[in-house]
Amino acid sequence: MKIIKHQSGEIFDIELEESLLRKNKELAEENQKIFDCYGIKAIDILGSIGSGKTTLICQLVKKLRKKYAIAVIAGDLTTQIDAQLIKKNGAKVIQINTGKECHLDAKLVNEAIKNLPLNKINLLFIENVGNLICPAEFPLGAHKRIVVFSCTEGPYVVIKHPYIFKEADIVVINKIDLAKKMGVSLPKLKADVKKIKSSLPIVETIANKGKGLEKIINFLTDA
Ligand code: MG
Ligand code: ZN
Repeated sequence: MKIIKHQSGEIFDIELEESLLRKNKELAEENQKIFDCYGIKAIDILGSIGSGKTTLICQLVKKLRKKYAIAVIAGDLTTQIDAQLIKKNGAKVIQINTGKECHLDAKLVNEAIKNLPLNKINLLFIENVGNLICPAEFPLGAHKRIVVFSCTEGPYVVIKHPYIFKEADIVVINKIDLAKKMGVSLPKLKADVKKIKSSLPIVETIANKGKGLEKIINFLTDA
């Protein structure tokens, strides 16, 4: 079979991308310094649209709001749907609408945190734009990254997105109650994750029913 592979392209493009990523990394480090200065634990949550990022955040907010002062930065192209859902559960929310941008970057997060009462927060969730590809390349300054995918995303969701799993600190497999119906094998999905990064902890959840959250909460407590 003929395969057309990605070419590294012209020098100009490479330099542009490198300087962009370098700048982002510097700003991400700056963001993390701000978080550390205020004693804020910052968690970047990545996953496709419909994987359950918002549902998971809402459930975590519900369970943790007595223990932590929580804020959420909700990344989305154009809507405020997620931000409103999260707000209802009792967290401070800042919406970032990225327009055509398919990922959050450190600069956007830097802007967002200027609008948060940082001295009154100790846990910050950052919901990235729903996408398993480029957010991997843009650290935001968060201390940990949670990658969420669900059994409805089919049997190849892990092996088709190796980079994002390499960058993850914990993986959440959501909607495990639908695995059989979707014809996906949970052991196979987990093996795919381990093949990419053997040290990655994996948590199975049914986020909309609040099931399987304990391990994530333990992870957050230790983070
Ligand atoms: Mg969402
Ligand atoms: Zn993107």
